[in-house]
Amino acid sequence: METLKANVDRVHQTIEEACYKSERDASEVQLVAVTKSTDIDHMRRLYDLGERHFAENRSDQLLERQEALADIADEIHWHFIGRLQSRKVKDIVNQVEYIHSLDRLSLAKEINKRARKPVKCFVQVNVSQEASKTGFPPELVEAFIQELAEFPHITVVGLMTMAPYDASEEDLRTYFQQMKHLQTQIAEVGYPHAPCQALSMGMSQDYAIAVEEGATMVRVGTTLFEGA
Ligand SMILES: *Cc1c(COP(=O)(O)O)cnc(C)c1O
Repeated sequence: METLKANVDRVHQTIEEACYKSERDASEVQLVAVTKSTDIDHMRRLYDLGERHFAENRSDQLLERQEALADIADEIHWHFIGRLQSRKVKDIVNQVEYIHSLDRLSLAKEINKRARKPVKCFVQVNVSQEASKTGFPPELVEAFIQELAEFPHITVVGLMTMAPYDASEEDLRTYFQQMKHLQTQIAEVGYPHAPCQALSMGMSQDYAIAVEEGATMVRVGTTLFEGA
């Protein structure tokens, strides 16, 4: 478990260095621990180390974990990442604070219908236009966000993307810069339902670059738990 502490420290330090390089304040960046591939013991230990943002990508596993961590679950900010099937929305929508994978209108309708209060959502952007990825192409994002104005239970807090696994550093920077540009453009409009101040981007492989380019939430799994 000391390895876990070393990994967590290293990730925070990498975020701080990336902020320093890009003249950002480290308090602008939230580490979201992606716990989908780890176990309850490691989640407790992460909590003891001070982490409060956890992300899962399967609804059944999310609920199991919240139950297993019932004594601390209220203090954790829960994130849903990854593809969300409409029929699962009712199970998790009132159990999470954030949904990072709003990628279609039918999902927005279901979230709006099942939520008891506004849910902080990220609109997923397929910035690299890979056929295998869901999300909107950049040019369609704002029109989609405009359509969401009719859903009182959806607040668009930001945009989310997953960069291609095999992208070069140069390509990654281009994708992340496009995301930052799009996010800023939408934020500047000032849609009441879409403040769009946040950028969810960066995973184990690329979070340092994502932070340098403006990420406010990094979703990190593998590198946190390596060897731990
Ligand atoms: C698994 C996952 C991550 C974390 O990826 P790692 O490479 O393990 O850091 C981030 N975002 C999404 C959507 C994921 O599914």
